[in-house]
Amino acid sequence: MSEQNTKDLAVKDLLTEALSKKIEQVIAQLTEAQATYQGNLILANSLGAEDMVLTDILARFLPEIPQFVLDTGRLPEETLTLLANMTGRYPQTMVHVYYPESTAVEAYVRDHGINAFYQSQSLRKACCAVRKLEPLRRALSDRKAWITGLRREQSVTRDAVAFSEWDESNGLQKLNPLADWTDKEVWAYIHHFNVPYNALHDQHYPSIGCAPCTRAISVGEDLRAGRWWWENPESRECGLHAASSISLRQDA
Ligand code: SF4
Repeated sequence: MSEQNTKDLAVKDLLTEALSKKIEQVIAQLTEAQATYQGNLILANSLGAEDMVLTDILARFLPEIPQFVLDTGRLPEETLTLLANMTGRYPQTMVHVYYPESTAVEAYVRDHGINAFYQSQSLRKACCAVRKLEPLRRALSDRKAWITGLRREQSVTRDAVAFSEWDESNGLQKLNPLADWTDKEVWAYIHHFNVPYNALHDQHYPSIGCAPCTRAISVGEDLRAGRWWWENPESRECGLHAASSISLRQDA
């Protein structure tokens, strides 16, 4: 049996023996959430593999739940191509695209330079604050809960992610329905349902953010090792997912 056939068989096995159940759990959690939050629920789509899984599930089972994308102005071309293709594949999905305030970006570049994020962690976080956090605040401003594709397996900064937790920094509930999914399960879903994904994933980019802050990883490296690779692993978050959340439900 060829290596590809073995891989295909492994993907099929995952769908039949374990993944189907997890998919059902995701649908059940999000159906319940939609009933609870009634129109005040939204998916944060970073256009990574996990968020494309959630996009597909929502489009098929809960198309009334909208989503938002943060276009920082520094995204890779491959990510923007996926965004363009996604709206054609899922015409039933409402996608809101948020951009940074132009005057804040202009001030940051004027004061620090176009690539100042390489100089220090504080300048990197300041850039993320302008290009990501402020637009996130606007995206969540009229919501009671948001959905993310966070998984525990992704990095040391995410190993305690709960299925549902209070997001203290943004003041609303955060749902992470893929919290216990493995990387293999994410890709089994994508291949089985032919979900569109970022072309960079095929070039050893498991986690993709802004172009200047993302690189390919090597075999054996942490899945998020290519994000802000010049910093310590413990600091490699942009602030969208602060570790201050209080868990309200574990492994539901
Ligand atoms: S990931 Fe890099 S370019 Fe993007 S907002 Fe953060 S520091 Fe700026």
